[in-house]
Amino acid sequence: MKCVTGKRSYDTESMAVDALVDIRGRNNYRSESGPINVYQCEDCGQWHFTSKGTTHPLLKDEDVQQRISSQNEAEYWERKLRF
Ligand SMILES: [Zn+2]
Repeated sequence: MKCVTGKRSYDTESMAVDALVDIRGRNNYRSESGPINVYQCEDCGQWHFTSKGTTHPLLKDEDVQQRISSQNEAEYWERKLRF
Protein backbone atom coordinates (compact mmCIF):
# COMPACT_ATOMS: atom_id res chain seq x y z
CA MET A 1 0.00 0.00 0.00
CA LYS A 2 1.29 3.40 -0.90
CA CYS A 3 1.35 6.01 1.82
CA VAL A 4 0.11 9.58 1.47
CA THR A 5 3.49 10.78 2.72
CA GLY A 6 5.08 9.25 -0.37
CA LYS A 7 7.76 7.71 1.81
CA ARG A 8 8.99 4.18 1.44
CA SER A 9 7.11 1.89 3.82
CA TYR A 10 8.30 -1.07 5.85
CA ASP A 11 6.01 -3.66 7.42
CA THR A 12 7.82 -3.91 10.73
CA GLU A 13 10.07 -1.79 12.87
CA SER A 14 12.95 -4.23 12.55
CA MET A 15 12.70 -4.21 8.74
CA ALA A 16 12.78 -0.42 8.79
CA VAL A 17 15.77 -0.34 11.12
CA ASP A 18 17.65 -2.87 8.96
CA ALA A 19 16.97 -0.74 5.93
CA LEU A 20 18.04 2.36 7.82
CA VAL A 21 21.41 0.82 8.65
CA ASP A 22 21.74 -0.32 5.05
CA ILE A 23 20.95 3.09 3.58
CA ARG A 24 23.40 4.80 5.91
CA GLY A 25 26.01 2.31 4.71
CA ARG A 26 25.31 3.13 1.07
CA ASN A 27 25.31 6.88 1.55
CA ASN A 28 28.05 8.69 3.31
CA TYR A 29 25.86 10.87 5.53
CA ARG A 30 27.33 13.16 8.12
CA SER A 31 26.62 11.91 11.61
CA GLU A 32 23.59 14.15 12.19
CA SER A 33 22.15 14.25 8.69
CA GLY A 34 20.08 11.92 6.55
CA PRO A 35 17.57 9.48 8.03
CA ILE A 36 18.39 8.82 11.67
CA ASN A 37 15.38 6.98 13.01
CA VAL A 38 12.17 5.16 12.11
CA TYR A 39 8.59 5.79 13.17
CA GLN A 40 5.21 4.17 12.77
CA CYS A 41 3.01 6.19 10.46
CA GLU A 42 -0.43 7.32 11.59
CA ASP A 43 -1.74 7.20 8.04
CA CYS A 44 -0.66 3.80 6.78
CA GLY A 45 0.40 2.03 9.99
CA GLN A 46 3.71 1.06 8.41
CA TRP A 47 7.20 2.23 9.26
CA HIS A 48 9.06 5.10 7.63
CA PHE A 49 12.41 6.82 8.04
CA THR A 50 12.71 10.20 9.64
CA SER A 51 15.55 12.67 9.76
CA LYS A 52 14.04 14.51 12.72
CA GLY A 53 14.15 13.82 16.42
CA THR A 54 16.54 11.52 18.17
CA THR A 55 18.96 9.10 16.58
CA HIS A 56 17.95 5.46 16.78
CA PRO A 57 19.99 3.78 19.54
CA LEU A 58 21.12 1.07 17.13
CA LEU A 59 22.92 3.67 15.03
CA LYS A 60 24.96 4.55 18.11
CA ASP A 61 25.94 0.93 18.63
CA GLU A 62 29.64 0.44 18.06
CA ASP A 63 29.27 -2.70 15.94
CA VAL A 64 26.66 -1.07 13.76
CA GLN A 65 28.75 2.09 13.35
CA GLN A 66 31.68 -0.06 12.31
CA ARG A 67 29.49 -1.91 9.82
CA ILE A 68 28.28 1.38 8.36
CA SER A 69 31.73 2.90 8.03
CA SER A 70 33.23 -0.22 6.44
CA GLN A 71 30.33 -0.31 3.99
CA ASN A 72 30.87 3.40 3.27
CA GLU A 73 34.46 2.58 2.45
CA ALA A 74 33.51 -0.34 0.20
CA GLU A 75 30.98 1.81 -1.64
CA TYR A 76 33.58 4.53 -2.05
CA TRP A 77 36.03 2.18 -3.75
CA GLU A 78 33.34 0.56 -5.82
CA ARG A 79 32.32 3.96 -7.14
CA LYS A 80 35.92 5.00 -7.71
CA LEU A 81 36.82 1.85 -9.59
CA ARG A 82 33.77 2.03 -11.80
CA PHE A 83 35.17 5.03 -13.64
ZN1 LIG B 1 2.71 6.15 6.06
